[in-house]
Amino acid sequence: MNKYVSKVLEDLKTKNPNQPEFIQAATEILESISLVCDEHPEYEEKGLLEMLTEPERVIMFRVPWVDDNGKVQVNKGYRVQFNSAIGPYKGGLRFHPSVNLSILKFLGFEQIFKNSLTTLPIGGGKGGSDFDPKGKSDNEVMRFCQAFMAELYRHIGADTDVPAGDIGVGAREIGYLFGYYKKLANEHTAVLTGRGLEYGGSLARKQATGYGLVYLVNEMLTCNGKELKGKTVVVSGSGNVAIYACEKATQLGAKVVAMCDSNGYVYDANGIDLDLVKEIKEVRRGRIKEYVDVHKDAKYVPDCREIWTVKCDIALPCATQNELDEKSAEILIKNGVFAVGEGANMPTTLEATKKFIDAGVLFAPGKAANAGGVATSALEMAQSSQRIFWSFEEVDAKLKNIMVGIFHNIDNAARKYGKENNFVIGANIAAFEKIAGAMLAHGIC
Ligand code: NDP
Repeated sequence: MNKYVSKVLEDLKTKNPNQPEFIQAATEILESISLVCDEHPEYEEKGLLEMLTEPERVIMFRVPWVDDNGKVQVNKGYRVQFNSAIGPYKGGLRFHPSVNLSILKFLGFEQIFKNSLTTLPIGGGKGGSDFDPKGKSDNEVMRFCQAFMAELYRHIGADTDVPAGDIGVGAREIGYLFGYYKKLANEHTAVLTGRGLEYGGSLARKQATGYGLVYLVNEMLTCNGKELKGKTVVVSGSGNVAIYACEKATQLGAKVVAMCDSNGYVYDANGIDLDLVKEIKEVRRGRIKEYVDVHKDAKYVPDCREIWTVKCDIALPCATQNELDEKSAEILIKNGVFAVGEGANMPTTLEATKKFIDAGVLFAPGKAANAGGVATSALEMAQSSQRIFWSFEEVDAKLKNIMVGIFHNIDNAARKYGKENNFVIGANIAAFEKIAGAMLAHGIC
């Protein structure tokens, strides 16, 4: 590895001893760009990697709110404004009990690269809270969102930092967050994306991450003499990304046979009944095990990690970070998987990723494969700025174009550095070259 890269990585580990997820993400990216740094000794002189790996700003705050029993609850709130070299900070908000600074720094760091790949003018950030919306009443969720925004509003803005949804932050939460921002700031701007269609949202934003994932995977298959049609697919998760990945894969002729939530997975040899999954997850906010109440011949297994034992041609991990480990990768490879597309952020561990690449599995990393969500968020911002509204078909066509473009960009970057078909390295290099160019242009600041 390049000496400068290796020194920055060692220093990063020493300075951030309790941030394993952030170190994992930084390790993957820094190792990948080692080849580029060999050609650019000026990066070290300018302290480029030290600046890149330190967030421009981290905001941490308390979020006090009152539950339905009149009891005061206090959660932690965060916004990591990681890098604004290419444009305003952009990245989702995650509400989940596991949220901590390490996870948000990993997500924010990845987001800088993902946003660079979209070709759109957006920097990288991420935020959230350890609040768990699961099991809370609508009123509790609203009071929490208002308390969260009561602090966040002073740090964000349509040209400064534009959050969106992520795990635990869907249409309902975005609505409450936006409503309170509007009240506090007295302005109706594109300060959040993923907004409802009635108040500035974009058609196809809801579908964008899942659809985009499948568009990119499809292009990767086509360019490697394969096709999606007729293939068996496993999609983990049953949230926003998973549902629309399943929908697009099915539309393109694949058969999705398994999906999960954090409790367990369902297997349906006839192909997943997506209308039922939508009804359970989007309407009832229920659990995936309810699927087998309707489809008696489907199977429910109360362990989500076991989903990777289901035989498939293509695996689309769309739930959460590190959900697919080395052991699961070995099983998938043994069962004949030939392509993996990451819908979630960093769902595959470093060891599992290496297994796939060494085995010749076509592996599309999340920062490229799931960039369709943020790309469409940027299209939402563009529509808001121009006070126009594109049709579903227009947005979907732009999304498809962007995803196909991202694939060719990462494929070319991998080839340029002699790493053909290593899309992890290709994605990191393609994204980095643009970020580095912008940062160097701005000087030391
Ligand atoms: P949702 O909250 O809509 O869905 C998350 C899904 O993953 C749920 O089915 C959830 O199950 C499941 N899940 C959560 N934790 C675990 C776990 N530990 N093990 C197994 N399953 C789990 O989130 P999204 O679909 O929006 O996000 C999914 C992933 O995609 C995240 O990594 C997110 O960062 C990433 N992503 C999302 C984008 C978007 O536009 N939404 C854009 C780009 C990336 P349960 O209901 O039991 O919690």
